[in-house]
Amino acid sequence: MMKKVVKFGGSSLASAEQFQKVGEIIRAEESRKYVVPSAPGKRFSADTKVTDMLYQCYGAAEEGKDFLAQLDAIKTRYQEIIDGLSLDLSLDKEFDMISENFTKKAGSDYAASRGEYLNGIIMANYLGYEFIDAADVIYFDEDGRFDDVKTNEVLSEKLAKIERAVIPGFYGAMPDGTIKTFSRGGSDLTGSIVAKAAKVDMYENWTDVSGFMIADPRIINNPKTIEAITYKELRELSYMGATVLHEDAIFPIRKEGIPINIRNTNAPEDSGTLIVEATCRHPKYTITGIAGKQGFASITIEKAMMNSEIGFCRKVLQVFEDNGISIEHMPSGIDTMTVFVHQSEFQENEQKVLAGIHQAVQPDNIELESDLSLIAIVGRGMRSKRGTSGRVFSALAHSHVNVKMIDQGSSELNIVVGVRNHDFENAIKALYDIFVVTKL
Ligand code: ASP
Repeated sequence: MMKKVVKFGGSSLASAEQFQKVGEIIRAEESRKYVVPSAPGKRFSADTKVTDMLYQCYGAAEEGKDFLAQLDAIKTRYQEIIDGLSLDLSLDKEFDMISENFTKKAGSDYAASRGEYLNGIIMANYLGYEFIDAADVIYFDEDGRFDDVKTNEVLSEKLAKIERAVIPGFYGAMPDGTIKTFSRGGSDLTGSIVAKAAKVDMYENWTDVSGFMIADPRIINNPKTIEAITYKELRELSYMGATVLHEDAIFPIRKEGIPINIRNTNAPEDSGTLIVEATCRHPKYTITGIAGKQGFASITIEKAMMNSEIGFCRKVLQVFEDNGISIEHMPSGIDTMTVFVHQSEFQENEQKVLAGIHQAVQPDNIELESDLSLIAIVGRGMRSKRGTSGRVFSALAHSHVNVKMIDQGSSELNIVVGVRNHDFENAIKALYDIFVVTKL
């Protein structure tokens, strides 16, 4: 018998109508046994997510200001859902407790976590499923890091005995019992953790888009959806800024071989994107996706005979490390090496880094360039196709985009190009055009 975890994002649970769609989805398949809800999200674009309302409300409580009106507005959001679903449920006691804990300054993580906690209670009542408080089954260690060993032990034992349950996303408990949340969007992680513990066949992640798009829809009009993508490809794309799923959500399950299916609550008939460990399915296009980020700076260090100087790179990199700057890419030539860094991180310590490099390796010249973007062209299909980087170059040249850097990962899974920020959108359009529209 197939078992699935179904996680629903905030916009899927923003109102009673959305809850009804979710109810229909869950009831449509016997296998949808474990439900991980987010807090109610936005009902319309100018709306405020309940999580943000909770942070604000708690902010007032922490400053000793009156927060009751704000808390009441949050209660109204939930009451509207309860009334819309005609449930026989009162959250009065819960809100009294929250108010008391806010006065006692229980912490902003506690505050934010109430969004999913309360939505979980409503969801369990609506579906007739058991409610499991995430604080009793998801653990963090003393240092605030997610404790996967303890969590998996406790949670898998618990779920083995419960056929159907709702486990709210986003939070867990510290060893002393205080509530701690994951970073924003962390319910995706809870879904993954539950999927592993329950040993399910599939983790369905329901959101408001029909899966991952090949490129950012703010740049490409109506981009195609990615049908299947591997964990590795996804990692490359999300690192480069593609969002839909929390960056860390694949880690708990990638070793378990559990696929993730991104689905659309508002279009349940769409099959969405399937994220898998490996697949023999041939991708439809040479590339699986394109993603990019702006705001990089490059530091090019020149020194004659650099290549024969042992330890040169290490000394240069040490300077970045000492200044707490992480390095994104490092293309190099015979007598030059270039380091790409986040501009905002670099700017703070710019002069210290330059002085450090001068002291460490006495370069002939250092050149800085700012306002650069990095674009990753990712695809498992590139390995079996010749000339992909050639096509990247010619597409960019035809669009008059000057390529500042090109870096092909040794796994042949991605090609990263550096361009100027002002060429960013044009470059993505040109790449989408050649690989997806003309299918080269
Ligand atoms: N509600 C939380 C947030 O807005 C967590 C989540 O939705 O995954 O970030």
